Amino acid sequence: MEGGIRKIIHVDMDAFYASVEQRDDPALRGRPVAVGYAAKRGVVAAASYEARAFGVHSAMPSTTAMRKCAELVFVPPRFDVYRAVSRQIRETFADYTDLIEPLSLDEAYLDVTANWRGLPTASETAAEIRARIKEATGLNASAGISYCKFLAKLASDQRKPNGQFVITPGRGPAFIAALPIDKFHGVGPKTAEKMARLGIFTGADLQQQSLAFLQANFGKSGPWYYAISRGEDDRAVTPNRPRKSSGSETTFVRDLTDPAEIEAGVLSMADEVWDWCDKAQAFGRTVTVKIKYADFQQATRSRTLSAPVASRDVLRAVGIELVRSVYPPAKGIRLLGVTVSGFEREQEGAIETGQLGLDLGLAS
Ligand SMILES: [Mg+2]
Repeated sequence: MEGGIRKIIHVDMDAFYASVEQRDDPALRGRPVAVGYAAKRGVVAAASYEARAFGVHSAMPSTTAMRKCAELVFVPPRFDVYRAVSRQIRETFADYTDLIEPLSLDEAYLDVTANWRGLPTASETAAEIRARIKEATGLNASAGISYCKFLAKLASDQRKPNGQFVITPGRGPAFIAALPIDKFHGVGPKTAEKMARLGIFTGADLQQQSLAFLQANFGKSGPWYYAISRGEDDRAVTPNRPRKSSGSETTFVRDLTDPAEIEAGVLSMADEVWDWCDKAQAFGRTVTVKIKYADFQQATRSRTLSAPVASRDVLRAVGIELVRSVYPPAKGIRLLGVTVSGFEREQEGAIETGQLGLDLGLAS
């Protein structure tokens, strides 16, 4: 390939959590499996291919999934196992490049423009990586190979399960032209609806629009849609830098006293922090809520869990519990912050020094 053209691989494990469960329990093989809880408010975290044949998919309420498939087997998630497998996968990636950008436990972009094993093509590199993942973990991965992240991610879906697909620069435009609009990165259901009202249903329709038209209708996203409809995506594959904590805080335009507003603030920050944890695959044990009052007095409440925060719901619940410990607020709250710290490596040290356990306290 000539200079300037990148080689990007998107690796995506097939039905990841469900496949790990089927690998570890032979009784589950060949059966429709949902990872999650069969509870009233439960949600399917992952579905095996056998379950997908019944229309069961991830993020579906458990009750709906049970209606669709009477013999569905629910298995509780084992995030520690999934994380261990995820680390094995990352170790494999690290033999080829240090430009690895994880999207979740089972998905990552790799920039292999200069792959360390000197393989002639990105396709061969992807095939070798998938074979080595299979050898190390017993699990199947699919891969998409292209010259930008947008197309690599779409490509990995084309030959699932256990396959790979290349979109060359020459084939990019035709692939994009045929693509339904809701498959475009950054186009959610609401935007897709708006595009449909404007007569835009496919990449080809999108490509017909002028930059000015897209800017007028979609604001700051306009230039992105304009570029992506032409297969232009120069976003770099960015490895996550190690961080000691992840936090988010908000200063409110007016002081809050209503618990409903205070809790809404905590939840939105918990979500923001969780999104980062999930993307960085960094899970800490300590959750801290910081409260700054109207008179600038500050309180922090923190709690250290016996295991790293494993889900958005856990982070939300602990955040709410912590902020409720200051009720009723003595005065208006002008700033709230939510932080997760105590990531695994740090915490191993803490285990040795015996600092683990429940810590509910008031600091500063
Ligand atoms: Mg996957």
